[in-house]
Amino acid sequence: MTTNNRRLEDRVAVVTGSAAGIGRAIALRLGAEGARVVVADRKADLGQETANAISDAGGEALFVACDVADADQVRTLMETTIARYGRIDALVSNAGIPGAGTPAHETDEDDWDRVIAVNLRGVFLCAKYAIPHMLAAGRGAIVNTASTFGMIGAPHTPAYAASKGAVIALTRQLAVDYGPLGIRVNAVSPGYVDNDMDQRRSRMTPEDAARNLAAREAAAALQPLGRQADTGEIAAAVAFLLSDDASFVTGAIVPVDGGCTAFFNLGHR
Ligand code: NAD
Repeated sequence: MTTNNRRLEDRVAVVTGSAAGIGRAIALRLGAEGARVVVADRKADLGQETANAISDAGGEALFVACDVADADQVRTLMETTIARYGRIDALVSNAGIPGAGTPAHETDEDDWDRVIAVNLRGVFLCAKYAIPHMLAAGRGAIVNTASTFGMIGAPHTPAYAASKGAVIALTRQLAVDYGPLGIRVNAVSPGYVDNDMDQRRSRMTPEDAARNLAAREAAAALQPLGRQADTGEIAAAVAFLLSDDASFVTGAIVPVDGGCTAFFNLGHR
């Protein structure tokens, strides 16, 4: 990832789910744009590695272990950020899990609850505990990670799709409540990203994971831009939305999906 922009100089940004994947790319991008980045994730080793990568590139970062579904841990995350940096200018609620990949009648209740707890309750909790600090400063910017699957149907993703649809609704609702108070709230909606969550799901065999990846790549090839996204392409949109370049943008759900939600795919592209 390279950028000549320093649009986030000295801002303090909390990024959840930033030990790996899209969140890691977001954290690196924000660090490269001058932000002081709080890397928040359940995975301590990988999270610390992301923070180290930001520092090694000349930036400033702190890793805080946090399960976003746990209110006490999220409160502690924000308090730790304040103790270290004195304020929270930006929040990226990116942590998310895919769920079991089963149709509704085969979906275990515990799996449903966990997906909703991480993907939706986690976004709510992070907003709940970050916003008071933004209100105190009279400004702030939040970006949530939604998904194409929160906008259109896809096979066998009932909890995930419901959680992401709700994140989209919550994003708009927060924008309405907090716009008058100086806080902008937007979402990015990635499509196929070259970082297959499913491939790494513990319940999949390597053969199934390989099949899943091949299917994703075949599906991505049918989209208008004909490929999966690089994680840095999602991060670039997040950096824009957090920056003053997006000073009049709030309540927006920004598809970063290669055009797949713009396209009624008849299968003959
Ligand atoms: P990933 O699995 O590579 O990374 C997710 C990160 O979130 C991991 O570091 C993981 O440890 C962390 N995490 C998971 N549960 C957590 C919790 N409870 N608390 C704190 N951290 C937690 O996934 P990704 O592909 O980078 O996805 C990131 C976000 O983008 C998710 O919200 C996902 O739903 C969304 N998304 C991904 C794709 C895609 O194609 N990969 C497409 C659309 C949307």
